[in-house]
Amino acid sequence: MATAAAALVAATRLLLDGALDLLYPPRCLVCGDFGPQYLCAACVSEFEAVPGPICLRCGAEAEPLAGPEERSARLCRWCIGGRAFAFVAARGAHAYAGVVRTAIHRLKYDRRRRLAEPLALTMLPALARAPLAGRELVLVPVPLHPSKLRQRGFNQAELLAQALAAKTGLPLELDAVRRVRATEPQALLKGRHRFANVEDAFEGLPGALVGRDVLLIDDVVTTLATANACSVALLKAGTQSIHVLALARGGGGLPCDAPTRP
Ligand SMILES: [Zn+2]
Ligand SMILES: [Zn+2]
Repeated sequence: MATAAAALVAATRLLLDGALDLLYPPRCLVCGDFGPQYLCAACVSEFEAVPGPICLRCGAEAEPLAGPEERSARLCRWCIGGRAFAFVAARGAHAYAGVVRTAIHRLKYDRRRRLAEPLALTMLPALARAPLAGRELVLVPVPLHPSKLRQRGFNQAELLAQALAAKTGLPLELDAVRRVRATEPQALLKGRHRFANVEDAFEGLPGALVGRDVLLIDDVVTTLATANACSVALLKAGTQSIHVLALARGGGGLPCDAPTRP
């Protein structure tokens, strides 16, 4: 009963959003300026890059924590310390700060789903750079648990991946991995607790992506605990390799209890 009620609320919200779009002319859903786009060029111009040099592994700012050894390897102190992620490398198209942070809040919490497509287009330059450029990647969004999906009405990572697939022609796979356990919101937990919170939260579906190279898509990554747990499940199901691309990269260089290499 509660499930049906939540689904009805989500559907009603989406209908209301649609009705509001008919009543009001298009406007930037971030700054409110009227114009032809749901995300205006002025807002996009405010998006900030992750300050460089970035760690080649986790995509976080590698300075100022890095010493000479880290600088030559181009890794942050946490990755050179043996942090063993299940994915090959992660990148954020922007730093999780300022206007992009506001835009992501509008998308997720104010349910402005029309922001997903223009936000996804701002990820294209990151797709055209190393280590992602030139690879035959299958796009896989980080899934939400069904209870969260009913509550929000959509999966923002899936909307981003769909828009990227439509623009680039890269294949999209929505059924390769699912979230089998509801978890505490990662944002409420300290870094060292985030890995335990999402451990075994995902299950890969055997056969879907055997031998394929996956690009895991998410809206925000910080400790990369969620992306790592999702990658573990995909590898177990036979995926050959996983890279991660997020709309925004938060934190960086955070001390955390990520698994380390023996
Ligand atoms: Zn704007
Ligand atoms: Zn790193």
